[in-house]
Amino acid sequence: MAKAKVAFFDFTCCEGCQIEMTNFGDAAFLELLNHVEIVEFREVMSEKTKEPIDIALVEGSFTREADRKRLEEIRNRAKIVIAYGACAATGGVNALKNHMTDYKEDVYGKDAGMPHLDSQKALPISAAIKVDYCVYGCPMDKYELLRILSHLLHDKEPVIPNYPVCVECKRNGTICRYQEGDHCIGQVARAGCGAPCPADGIPCEACRGFVDKPNEKALKKVLIEKAKFSEKRAESKSRIFSANLRSDAQ
Ligand code: SF4
Ligand code: SF4
Ligand code: SF4
Repeated sequence: MAKAKVAFFDFTCCEGCQIEMTNFGDAAFLELLNHVEIVEFREVMSEKTKEPIDIALVEGSFTREADRKRLEEIRNRAKIVIAYGACAATGGVNALKNHMTDYKEDVYGKDAGMPHLDSQKALPISAAIKVDYCVYGCPMDKYELLRILSHLLHDKEPVIPNYPVCVECKRNGTICRYQEGDHCIGQVARAGCGAPCPADGIPCEACRGFVDKPNEKALKKVLIEKAKFSEKRAESKSRIFSANLRSDAQ
């Protein structure tokens, strides 16, 4: 059987998700290479392709109208498009700027008006093209990507969790951060990572975005009442990775 042609593409992002894949040296990934042919992957090879592809993995947000054409061209060539990483799936940390003014001046000072810095709101790539599946997380969970690819190669529908990270904490027997006087926003975060952060004594920051119906009001209440956050801090806490998913998304 011919190997599935897989290509990696990047848009506005830090390319950390690509790097995450290049660090993926375990047997499961090497086994994947027996079933797919990687035809484009800028971080690891110089070859490019204009041929049809089976699976396009797209990293990074849609932040410039000028990128629409390239996204559409990828969509037209690919049977399946996967948005991988928070930037591509939801806008991720890039979407923080949607709530800010003067951010260019703050970062680039006198160079803020340079033409290459011209950009629009940071949006998921689904704002420009149809996306078939998302791999959430910042960076994305490479084992989840592997699982999704494996399901697709076996003609199975990938299962992407829509329950909170708290469920995985409980399964792991992890002590809740709140019981140790800390804070956490795993109550509204989409599971699938296995809850590694609370297991390491670190609050979940919802890097995988929200579940479909997050209870933002209850999250704010618990951050104020249990973690003693100020109203303002509780209000903005979930914005870092999920600005586009909040009810006040702009
Ligand atoms: S999701 Fe995170 S690690 Fe991946 S490209 Fe975006 S900022 Fe980088
Ligand atoms: S540590 Fe966070 S994710 Fe885990 S159970 Fe507590 S609130 Fe939920
Ligand atoms: S526990 Fe939370 S912050 Fe950590 S990887 Fe999972 S979703 Fe991301």
